[in-house]
Amino acid sequence: MDWDDLENRGDAEHAELRRVDIIELMSDNETFYPGPSRIHLAAFPPKERWDDWTELDSRAWPQRKERHYSLVPTTCFNCESACGLLAYIDKVTGEVQKFEGNPEHPGSRGRNCAKGPATLNQVTDPDRILYPLKRLGKRGEGKWQRTSWDEALNTIAARIRKAIVEERRDEVMYHVGRPGEDGFTERILAAWGIDGHNSHTNICSSGSREGYQLWMGLDRPSPDHANAKVILLISAHLESGHYFNPHAQRVIDGKANGAKLIVFDTRLSSTATHADYWIAPYPGSEAAILLAIANYLIRNNLYNREFVETWWNWREYVAQPSTFTLDFKEEPPSFSDFEDILKELYSEYTFEFASKESGVDAKTIEQIAEVVATAGTRFSSHNWRSVSSGVSGGWSVARCLFFINALLGAVATEGGVFPNAWNKFVPRPIYTPPHPKMWNETTWPREYPLSMNEMSFLLPHLLKDGRAKLDTYFTRVYNPVWTNPDGFSWIEMLADPDLVGCYVALTPTWNETAYYADYVLPMGVGSERHDIHSYETHDSQWLGFRQPVLKTHRQREGANINDTREVNPGEVWEENEFWLELTWRIDLDGSLGIRQFAESKKNPGTRLGVDEYYEWIFDNSVPGLPEKAAKENLTPLQFMRRYGAFEVKNKIGKIYEEVVGREELEDARVDEFGRVFTRAAKPAGPNIVPLPLPDGDDEGRRLVGIKFGDTIKRGFPTPSGRLEFFSKTLHDWGWPEYAIPSYFKSHVHPDNLEPDQTILISTFRLAVQIHTRSANSKWLDEIAHTNPLWIHTSHADKLNVITGDLLRVETEIGYYVVPAWVTEGIRPGIVACSHHMGRWKLTDEGQRQLMATVKLDRNGTQWGLKRQRGIEPYESTDADTQRIWWKDAGVHQNMTFPVHPDPISGMHCWHQAVRVRRAEPTDNPGDIFVDTAKSREVFKKWLALTRPADKYSPDRTRRPYWMLRPLKPAREYYKLPE
Ligand code: SF4
Repeated sequence: MDWDDLENRGDAEHAELRRVDIIELMSDNETFYPGPSRIHLAAFPPKERWDDWTELDSRAWPQRKERHYSLVPTTCFNCESACGLLAYIDKVTGEVQKFEGNPEHPGSRGRNCAKGPATLNQVTDPDRILYPLKRLGKRGEGKWQRTSWDEALNTIAARIRKAIVEERRDEVMYHVGRPGEDGFTERILAAWGIDGHNSHTNICSSGSREGYQLWMGLDRPSPDHANAKVILLISAHLESGHYFNPHAQRVIDGKANGAKLIVFDTRLSSTATHADYWIAPYPGSEAAILLAIANYLIRNNLYNREFVETWWNWREYVAQPSTFTLDFKEEPPSFSDFEDILKELYSEYTFEFASKESGVDAKTIEQIAEVVATAGTRFSSHNWRSVSSGVSGGWSVARCLFFINALLGAVATEGGVFPNAWNKFVPRPIYTPPHPKMWNETTWPREYPLSMNEMSFLLPHLLKDGRAKLDTYFTRVYNPVWTNPDGFSWIEMLADPDLVGCYVALTPTWNETAYYADYVLPMGVGSERHDIHSYETHDSQWLGFRQPVLKTHRQREGANINDTREVNPGEVWEENEFWLELTWRIDLDGSLGIRQFAESKKNPGTRLGVDEYYEWIFDNSVPGLPEKAAKENLTPLQFMRRYGAFEVKNKIGKIYEEVVGREELEDARVDEFGRVFTRAAKPAGPNIVPLPLPDGDDEGRRLVGIKFGDTIKRGFPTPSGRLEFFSKTLHDWGWPEYAIPSYFKSHVHPDNLEPDQTILISTFRLAVQIHTRSANSKWLDEIAHTNPLWIHTSHADKLNVITGDLLRVETEIGYYVVPAWVTEGIRPGIVACSHHMGRWKLTDEGQRQLMATVKLDRNGTQWGLKRQRGIEPYESTDADTQRIWWKDAGVHQNMTFPVHPDPISGMHCWHQAVRVRRAEPTDNPGDIFVDTAKSREVFKKWLALTRPADKYSPDRTRRPYWMLRPLKPAREYYKLPE
């Protein structure tokens, strides 16, 4: 054992301490590391020693040289999972030596994927941006001068103030990729009184979100994989799916406990390799398979009759005379009548039908249905990105998947699926500015009244159409030229000062979009900034705290640090301090009513600081935290700085069954469906910030719950208060044919393809890459640095290509050149290419470890991108950059995709109908050609598929008020203009 070894080496003091710790912990708790992890964690430093943790210096071997570390928790920012990290800060050098997992974090439980520890690469990245930069020359010319934070802040603040004063508030836009913080910037924008939030969600996950929201009013599922009997995944959970590491480890826990794992993936993903049943359906046919399973459960009476009768909104469905053809046995129709209708409705979805659509053997689908039927209420399922982000109508995949949960009653049960907000904790902030008094038509155009999020990826087209222009445009953790489809249209927009007056890129690193900025402002990476966040990793609620680890370390050592620029490299800042300072400068005298939301409560007249901001939240908004902190003689903020996470509540259970108290029943009215409306409805569930409540009535009442005899139960945050098998919203807003879970042919259904076309899957990535932020993560780059085209052996034979041969992939607007990777791990006839590669730069300025140097050629609307140089070793402050051995950087395929906005969810439908052929002799890997005139044509074709609010809104509003929106305008601005 370790301690014997230490004793043998004469280190008796440490050996004894370690022995005592471990023996005590074992006897008291039967685990090595107690705490919210609740698992056997032998290898973590006991938290009592985090102020001075000793390890031997591996570089000094064979000498036994000790190094002393201060261990400071923070939160990883390299994907949405928000896993806990523990920074090992050398007490002598004051530098971070490494990042490991934080055992105090209830979501990640001390574990990380490769990207977590690689945060260190980002901190020490020799190519990172260290100072504020201002453009010289034309946009995109690559000429920059260093400027000061003061100059940048004053210039930007003056522009925004002018736009607000001149009532051009729709010309200020903040466009975010990964937010990382729960609602901070949304509140800043609300403080400015602008509806200027724009997100990347419609190129990411809106498809699934729409499907889930239609059922349960909330847009994300929280599956309890660890306790499931059957797990069904339509996503790549073990490599890059939603809440990758926290969910992946719980999927494996579930399997270890005997759960059967079913995976639908056209490609042999890492998740599929762990499956008991892996099927590779034709892309877009997944909903047909799910409905065949549903039909099997319905036909054989294998569903949870009591749950369906109680919690589905079937009464609303049978009350719609146009939605069925059967006669009722009773009047009003009984549940038994509804069951007859249900059987009839789904009878066409036979295993044979599903087999015909998907290409999967009918017997296999039947076997899967039989396994699903054994799950009962322990059926956990998840669809994220994958096909729901790939095809038109992809949202129906999530909807049809949750249909099975709803049939089995596996909703908010142990081993089932919870609505996300029930397993997430969002504390009340220090200030809540009012909803903006405006509606931004550039982000929420009338054509997409039901879109899940902002129509962000259409921005160049909407601006080119003359619908709007931007005065000040921010991007943050976002690189639309590279990430979005149709990147050349983004370049055309950003290069035009008549469309975008001032573009500010907030970024730690160079990226393809930042090259077209007016200001490039250096922001901290994950361990250099503050945020709080909470995610639905399992049936629990926890709060994580991201913090600048060097600030906390220096504070532990007694230093007084006010501003993260004092501890970060160069003049790197953190966003939250930046936003507070910018808000302050927009309204220095307070005359616009904005400054008050950035003002200290402790010291009125001075700007609010981040310490006070978080101190207020932890003191006032997190139940149980002050008491727990007090037990350790800590303030709540000190507790969060010490441990990085707090478990608010474990095991949440069925909030829909919660009984509504009398205090909420003022002036109650009950309708024919048992919905109770009152004037005193409170937010559902344990969250302090209100969950979205459904529409109320004309007299100002809001839905409080559902009446069952003498009891009123909380229900779900949908307009009906129940799970919505029938979406009155879709029915009333012009899509009655999709009012119940259904399957329809997507834009890449075989009926919609030319004979020589196939499907390209572009919605996956490898587990070790992070999009823009990973290009200079050397440990990750060494593992993965290319993205060849997956092509099945039979397909490759037809084209007479072998692995490494170059192929041309032709889309509707151009083509790209990529080497083949011949594999049996994909459905024959379908091709796939990971979207995490193909980074490029125009000059030496950039992330040199994974950005190829390219040349752009333009002839009118025709654009070419040619690689000039691949990746090469280079001299820097990091000796490892001389050891770079990889040359490839992959291909930037997204640029060759036109926009495909789903007319309902607004999701960009990523799958492409393509032609794949051998490359021309003059082609080189990474070459791209695009005609943006064709992009415009495709945009118009998809726009014509919409059913705009002007024509279809049932109540002359722009959008159903109950539907989620990251930043909601005041309710009166939902009204369409007369
Ligand atoms: S899954 Fe990996 S990248 Fe994502 S937060 Fe966790 S450690 Fe970081």
